Amino acid sequence: NEVGLVSFMEQLVYMFRLQAEAKGISFDYTRQQRIPEFVATDEKRLRQILINLLSNAIKFTDHGGVSLSLTYRNEVAEFVISDTGIGIAEDDLERIFKPFERVTQGRPGTGLGLTITRLLTDIMGGDLQYESVPGKGTRFKLVLMMSSLSRPTPIPVNDIWQGGYEGRRRTI
Ligand code: ATP
Ligand code: MG
Repeated sequence: NEVGLVSFMEQLVYMFRLQAEAKGISFDYTRQQRIPEFVATDEKRLRQILINLLSNAIKFTDHGGVSLSLTYRNEVAEFVISDTGIGIAEDDLERIFKPFERVTQGRPGTGLGLTITRLLTDIMGGDLQYESVPGKGTRFKLVLMMSSLSRPTPIPVNDIWQGGYEGRRRTI
């Protein structure tokens, strides 16, 4: 479906900036200047993926902060979510995508976020890469194809008025 990418991102940023502020860490968002205003993608799935990654980044970061960036080139969008949090040990990196696997104790969660995130990314035909250094931070990169739409498909006015509509026309 058609997504207004710029405002979609602003909404997410607004929400997570508040969460970061409440925790006393920073939240930065940068995006490439020229990105299409509208793209064809699955808004609900994309939102769920980004919410999962961003809420993890905030949850597992106590100092410094979280940053999100968006670039778009040749119909490919790249979202990078990086944090200066506790990081994930090398041995645990594969495990975190399995259902109910949680590497860190003492923080809330069910261990399903990343499992769902990977599933949704696969469904969307995307790619999810990650790297982490314990004690330094974690970075996820989500790469998704999305074609740009110069503007949302307008409802053709003529179709509405000339499509055999039998009612009386009224001007209001
Ligand atoms: P849920 O997302 O279901 O509420 P959760 O956040 O614990 O619970 P996942 O999102 O699947 O579960 O993440 C699995 C585990 O991976 C986490 O418990 C944590 O140990 C580790 N992890 C995920 N993201 C990060 C991160 N940004 N920094 C450090 N560890 C992380
Ligand atoms: Mg999570």
